[in-house]
Amino acid sequence: MKPHFFDLNYGVTRGDFMEILHVAAECFPVAKAGGLGDVVGALPKYQNRLGVIAKVVIPMYRTSFLYQEEWELVHEGGQYLQEQFFKYSIIREKSNKLGFDLYLVDINGLLDREKVYGYSDDTERFIAFQLAVCDWIFHWQHLPTIVHCHDHHCGLIPFFLTQTNQFRSRLQGIPTVFTVHNAQYQGAFDWSKHTLLPPYDSWKWNLLDWHGQINPLAAAVKSAWRVTTVSYSYLDELTVHAGGLEKLFEYEKGKCVGILNGIDTEIWDPSCDPYLLFHYNKATMAEGKRKNKEEVCKEFGMDPSLPLFSFIGRLVGEKAADLLPVAIQDALLHNPGRANYIVLGSGQKEIEYQLQELRNIAGGFYNCSIGYQEALSHSLYAASDFLLMPSRVEPCGLNQLYALRFGTMPLVRRVGGLIDTVIDIGDTGGYGICFNEASVWDITYSIRRAINLYYENPEKYKGHCAQMMELDFSWDKAAANYLNLYTQLK
Ligand code: ADP
Repeated sequence: MKPHFFDLNYGVTRGDFMEILHVAAECFPVAKAGGLGDVVGALPKYQNRLGVIAKVVIPMYRTSFLYQEEWELVHEGGQYLQEQFFKYSIIREKSNKLGFDLYLVDINGLLDREKVYGYSDDTERFIAFQLAVCDWIFHWQHLPTIVHCHDHHCGLIPFFLTQTNQFRSRLQGIPTVFTVHNAQYQGAFDWSKHTLLPPYDSWKWNLLDWHGQINPLAAAVKSAWRVTTVSYSYLDELTVHAGGLEKLFEYEKGKCVGILNGIDTEIWDPSCDPYLLFHYNKATMAEGKRKNKEEVCKEFGMDPSLPLFSFIGRLVGEKAADLLPVAIQDALLHNPGRANYIVLGSGQKEIEYQLQELRNIAGGFYNCSIGYQEALSHSLYAASDFLLMPSRVEPCGLNQLYALRFGTMPLVRRVGGLIDTVIDIGDTGGYGICFNEASVWDITYSIRRAINLYYENPEKYKGHCAQMMELDFSWDKAAANYLNLYTQLK
């Protein structure tokens, strides 16, 4: 059904409530390219349960969610992008089915695309989105208590609110929180495009600049009231590895805090996940996982009696996906006939090609699915015995948390949020397999440890799986931590 529009409603009176507006490029299930979507689709729901009013605004892409739901028009306005005037409208999902008010910004010709990212005019698209959001807020009767921006696509908003002639008169007092989900992506663009930005005091240019470019991530870290990272260890790492922003994170350390992501335990629940053919809980785990594995193995032409290792994720260097073809080949060679491997992902063409080619020499013990498939990802978390995460960079990582919830043992490199969430089975209270280097050797060595555990100590392995399913990584704790942060800024 097409979205349809009702009369204008310029903001809602909320009295003295704490009202949080999350601004992001993704929000599950509306639009998701990775973990950012999962976070923005879950955190506000859990915040609302704590008694605050959390809302989300994202661009109105042309994804199926848009056509399945009913919408009402809440605001219309216009802005300039350089000399180009554009009109925008804001619509709200009527049923509140996600557990929070969801608003979409429609800008014809810029945001009305099928994909979230990857267009040559992404800079223009997200600047226009941010301008529309600021202008919309400008027209609210009661201003939001906090504007919470996520990643560089919204990184200019803290600057716009405080430094631009157009918005600061009314909006500069709104506290802003900026969450770094991934500092590898900064959205930097050339100063020759500075006319895309609304007028600001020219001597404030250095709030936008990093190494001679306009850098929205750097601008956010400089301009936001508080900055959060999605795990504690990632915050520490950013002063050493931050795609060139290390000194900035070091300098701004005082206003940065790490808040570990949670997972939406209602969406990621093996006892009722609609994507699973066979549901299971801790008591029925062995049987449930076996049945799910049989289904997946049937689909991929594999022997279900062997342990199954999976990788799910973007096929990029950050995830060390470039090491997978050689590491899996090595693992196949050194543990012949002892395990199966499945890769689900998309990304760099070279890696995709190598992973597809590997099928020809893997003799039915390896397969891959290139593309983004939400349903298959859930089946794999349930069907697999082990999940591979050799990441070079992992700000928090959600896959390992989903794996734990589904009783699947994660094999992780000790980096970022993986350090904060997985303890090695060799350590007290451990339940996963950890390694130090993003290298073929470390991956294959860890696979060998996993295979040995599986065959030689099945009771111990099952015990760890049961232990994993009991761990609590739900959003409740993180939502309370964010609330605590907002309260300090109010
Ligand atoms: P990142 O955001 O860096 O990609 P995260 O671990 O934070 O990594 O989140 C990844 C999310 O994207 C998880 O929900 C994972 O299941 C999902 N995902 C990644 N690639 C795919 C894919 N090809 N198909 C389905 N889901 C995927």
